[in-house]
Amino acid sequence: MTLSLLRNLKHPPSVKASLAVLVIACILPVSGVTAILILSFYHKERTQLISNTIGRARAAATAVDHDFGTATTALGALATSRMLLAGDLQGFHSRAVTVLGSLHADSILVLDPTGKMLMSTRRPYGEPLPTLNSAPLLRRILASGKPGVSDLFKGPLNQQLIYTVGVPVWRDGRVVMTLNATATPAQLAHVLVEQQLPPSWRASVLDASGRVVTRSHEMEKYVGQRLSDEQLRHAATASEGGFNTTTLDGIEVFVVFSRAPVSGWTVFLGIPQRELTAGLRANTAWLIGATLAALAAGLALAWLVAGRITRSVQLLIPPALAIGHGQAPAIPPLQFKEAIELGQALRNAAASVREARAASQESEQRLLLAADAAHLGIWIRDLKRQEIWLSDQWRALFGFAAGQPVGLADLLARVHADDRAAVQRTLDNAELGVPRYEMEYRITLPDGAQRWIGSHGSVETDAAGRPALVRGVSLDITARKQAELDALQRQKEVTHLSRVAVLGELSGALAHELNQPLTAILSNAQAARRFLERQPPDLAEVDEILRDIIDEDRRAGEVIQRLRRLFDKGETPRAPVDLNFLTRDVIRLLRNDLINHGIAVRTELTAPHAVASADAVQLQQVLINLLMNACDAMAGAAPDEAVIVVRSAPAGAAAVQLSVIDHGAGIPAAALAHIFEPFYTTKERGMGLGLSICRNIVAAHHGQLWAENNPGGGASVHLRLPLATAAIA
Ligand code: ADP
Repeated sequence: MTLSLLRNLKHPPSVKASLAVLVIACILPVSGVTAILILSFYHKERTQLISNTIGRARAAATAVDHDFGTATTALGALATSRMLLAGDLQGFHSRAVTVLGSLHADSILVLDPTGKMLMSTRRPYGEPLPTLNSAPLLRRILASGKPGVSDLFKGPLNQQLIYTVGVPVWRDGRVVMTLNATATPAQLAHVLVEQQLPPSWRASVLDASGRVVTRSHEMEKYVGQRLSDEQLRHAATASEGGFNTTTLDGIEVFVVFSRAPVSGWTVFLGIPQRELTAGLRANTAWLIGATLAALAAGLALAWLVAGRITRSVQLLIPPALAIGHGQAPAIPPLQFKEAIELGQALRNAAASVREARAASQESEQRLLLAADAAHLGIWIRDLKRQEIWLSDQWRALFGFAAGQPVGLADLLARVHADDRAAVQRTLDNAELGVPRYEMEYRITLPDGAQRWIGSHGSVETDAAGRPALVRGVSLDITARKQAELDALQRQKEVTHLSRVAVLGELSGALAHELNQPLTAILSNAQAARRFLERQPPDLAEVDEILRDIIDEDRRAGEVIQRLRRLFDKGETPRAPVDLNFLTRDVIRLLRNDLINHGIAVRTELTAPHAVASADAVQLQQVLINLLMNACDAMAGAAPDEAVIVVRSAPAGAAAVQLSVIDHGAGIPAAALAHIFEPFYTTKERGMGLGLSICRNIVAAHHGQLWAENNPGGGASVHLRLPLATAAIA
């Protein structure tokens, strides 16, 4: 229980406190058990003593009755004396004086039934004797005819306190006199002396009325005194017993009493309380002393041992700290086997730590070497301490000297002005806990050269889930970027050239095909004019000419129709194209334009199967057009609004739909019907051909292209194409 108590403490206790608790927990129960044993022993001793004392009181009470019995027997013998029966009181006086010596009595006297004293050995025969006023014993003997003992009373002859034993004197079947032996209390003193009680005990003999007849101490002072009513009540409850009380001379005692069965007199033996509890007190004092001594010794020992343990443990703290700092621990001499083992364990741990450190340094070096070889710059940004660690390769990439202090501001200063906002946004996002960290941007080196940098990293969080660290790599992507830009440029050029070529060819063909009917219409019209100028005009001829003009015009229309059909049919090579891949390619291609416009693209390419049979270049052109239109529509939008969503989704079982959704100004309802018409534009420098060419391309792929306004603002342009398998089927 103590251990669980110690475990539950908020602050773990010290070794000293623990050992002190242990010592107390060991010693106190032992002391408690000893105290119980002592109490039980004392209780037994006390019971035994009281039982012995009752025996002694009983013996004293028996002795009292025995004294009275002896006197009664002797008086009984005297009562049958012939002299007495014959009335020779003088002769009887001499006889009585002789007998008196063998009795515990002071005088023998004869009373007639009226209480008149007929004779007393205390007075010479013939002297006048008194009559007793009150003689309860005499009345008792006359009534019962049996011998008896009086209580203590004042003797009529010398006014002393005395008691008397009386027997009846019979003549002719009647009690004619009583023969009495009177005694002073001193006669009974031997009863108590014979018990050989310890001098401190108080003993007394009381008559039947509860008055002291004899006493072990200060007899003269207390003889004749009655006990208190309460004491007498206690004594009246049984013939033997004991109770706590105070003696007449004021001593606290446990008093034991026994009543003599014949006389009804009681012997009281009082054991002073101090003596009764002396053993207990001595034992208790001894126990307390022993407990305190054991506690003191135990605690001193605990203090000593705990001090040594604590010292040993504390001596191991500096070595443990040294291990933490990567230093070799110096283990001092220790005093305990366990501490020595712990010291050895620390030594082993230090060796393991050294090995692990060496291994980690080696792997770190290998990593740095690999990173160097791959021209990867490693960086770690501590978001809490706002510190940046940069590898030498990174510094070389960004044109900083090794060891030169570099902060975020220095890094941003290197970034191309057009890309700075986007870089700052990514840095801020990392601090907000956006887990992915990926960007491509341009930097300008101190010598003015430009470099494209690709940065990839991840944000690490602390135990509370707050972003704490960003770790990543940067690499030089100038070559790749240049290649992409070149490809895009070429793509744009090709697109432009093909458009120019188509327009040129179209206009050439138109000119060629229309030249002939137009020339015919012109010469017919000139002829008609001439016929109309004649007087009178030749209307029949004019009519003929107008029919020709109509025919020529129809032919010109047919030419245009035929050319359009030709243009529409334009067969291009088809191959399976995955629209999801194509979308990612196009977004990568446009990344710089998008960054420059401050626009983010989110892809939701959820169509699991998005392969169409198509001309990939033409479809790229369509998507580029749609994305650039969306960009134009969002010019000047708030940064958090400037997001284009490109979503792919299945459209039934046989088609896939690609939607470009923007948050721009939207398309005015009146314009919705016209935006796919050639040369419809609302832009200052627009050609108005983009959407019409797109719709032609899509139609050539058996698909549809349409636009709508979003309920929440902005426009969506949807492109639906049959799936490759469906197209083949
Ligand atoms: P251009 O882009 O050269 O104007 P287009 O045929 O590509 O030619 O577009 C025609 C017109 O359609 C645009 O001028 C513009 O008014 C409107 N338009 C196209 N896409 C959008 C869009 N996403 N949001 C709003 N208007 C658009």
